[in-house]
Amino acid sequence: MFDNRVVLEVQQANDIVDVISEHVSLKKKGREMVGLCPFHDDHRPSMNVNGLKQIFKCFACGAGGDVFKFVQMRENLTFPQAIERLAERAGIKLRPAKPAKGRTQEQPPAVDPNTLAKVNAWAAQHFQKNLSDEKKGKSTRDYIAQRQITPQSVKKWRLGLALDSPDDLIRAAKAKDASIKLLEQAGLITGQNQDKFVNRLMFPITDVTGRIIGFGGRTLDETGAKYINSPATSLFDKSNSLYGLEQARHQIVASGTAVVVEGYTDCIMAHQFGCANVIATLGTSFTAGHGRILRRYAKKVVLVFDSDTAGIEAANRALEVCLSQRIDIKLASLPEGKDPCDFLLTAGKERFEQLVHDAVDVFQFKWDRLVEKFGSDDTLAGRRLAIDEFLQTIAAGLGAGYMPPLDRGLILNRLSKIIGLDTKELNAELSRRLTRAARAASYGVENQKVQSIDYGQGLFAKAQREVLEVLLNEPKLFEIVKQKITSEVFDVPILRQTAAILFEKLNTEPESSLAEILAAAESIELGKCLVQLAQDGEAKGNFQARLTGALDTIERYKARKRKGRIEEVEDQRQFLKRIYENTEKENPHSVGMV
Ligand SMILES: [Zn+2]
Repeated sequence: MFDNRVVLEVQQANDIVDVISEHVSLKKKGREMVGLCPFHDDHRPSMNVNGLKQIFKCFACGAGGDVFKFVQMRENLTFPQAIERLAERAGIKLRPAKPAKGRTQEQPPAVDPNTLAKVNAWAAQHFQKNLSDEKKGKSTRDYIAQRQITPQSVKKWRLGLALDSPDDLIRAAKAKDASIKLLEQAGLITGQNQDKFVNRLMFPITDVTGRIIGFGGRTLDETGAKYINSPATSLFDKSNSLYGLEQARHQIVASGTAVVVEGYTDCIMAHQFGCANVIATLGTSFTAGHGRILRRYAKKVVLVFDSDTAGIEAANRALEVCLSQRIDIKLASLPEGKDPCDFLLTAGKERFEQLVHDAVDVFQFKWDRLVEKFGSDDTLAGRRLAIDEFLQTIAAGLGAGYMPPLDRGLILNRLSKIIGLDTKELNAELSRRLTRAARAASYGVENQKVQSIDYGQGLFAKAQREVLEVLLNEPKLFEIVKQKITSEVFDVPILRQTAAILFEKLNTEPESSLAEILAAAESIELGKCLVQLAQDGEAKGNFQARLTGALDTIERYKARKRKGRIEEVEDQRQFLKRIYENTEKENPHSVGMV
């Protein structure tokens, strides 16, 4: 997905000691740093971090790798996600790699996002034309007027109309000789070759630069879902997009606050009333992706819910986003049964602004609800339960992302004020739960984190290991190795994968460091294997002699296998001959069948 050079650049820009220090407290021990391993229930510091080699390794559970593997495991990310995360940390801009020639990638090349944006812009114009059409758009314009959306807003938000016809857009495209394939890639046409949006009021969704990345469509005849969105494309990802960010961006920056509502019309109405820092999620709850985007513009996010119940459900998620994205989140609930649009129309701008102003900090909100739940009789036991669940929720949220000690101190102070418990005691309580949450995460999501690796059995498997152990420490011996074997010889799966990566790397760059080789390995297991083999090899030393021994073993094995194959072929020949003879005896005319 990314060019190897870029991957290495990201790796080099993120010192492993710094990155791991953000998760684990490290102490100097000899030439390495040690700390409690976050991947198992560690009581003595078992994890070693080597700044010189830029690798880490836990001697208890075997976890190991480079900075990417650490982030992959710690934050439960894929390899590309870990690259993105660390690129962001180092301020490196990523460009996806051009598809390498000769590399077998079955996936069709992703469509250029800018091309899709152009297709969307064309479609948006078409929908706008429909809406302003004297006859075709009449009833929809009436509906819009009845919803009290002004013609200025219609223009500002580029609202449009998808006609009540299965192929209006397709026909328009054909008339212009436009590519139907592109319409399909933009998600405007379904697999059955029909318009995706039929008889719907269309809301173009733009990114912060104003490119139309997708559409939301509200049904006009109350059939089907009330709202549907464009499917995910290379340009559009619902959980990472916000409606109105283009229009609200300046006011969000100026006020330091982003107000998040749930619907397109809520957002439009807020702007119509002059509340210009309002944006909307696209029918999803507020995600970490949203938090990440808004963090660039605002210090504070206020989530507006249409009822207290909706707020309670969202509070946990909001807490998680708040903790993982380090952004202040407050919650505001509207009177039961009102959406922001209704509320603005009946109560007005000032009351809406007051509501936003009075929004409750997400920690406080969660705590208040817990006290309501457990503490109605104000007993000590009830309070204990409330504290317990509160800290549990926070530990779960903290487990989702890393938190520098300073931020943790700030949070503890805040919690201490809310619960009225001393920060030291809180810290101890929280740490206990964090360890438990980390353990649960490392067992739950991917067992590969704690699984031991199967290096195979027997002399031949051992010889394969030896070759890799030596090469990871003495890469220049690859000159000898490559004349005798290829990675195809390896038959233990994990060793074969390791050999494939190592051989390819050493073929092009004979001087590769362990960290550079690790950057080419995507899976956590491979990272663990590479570090393990490198360290075992280092401890054993005696490289030249061990390599010779191992290559001899492999040579003997290959010879035996060849012989085995000859014997096998010979067996088959004898077998066929016998059949042939028998058949000939029974039925001389059927020879050709054999
Ligand atoms: Zn460990």
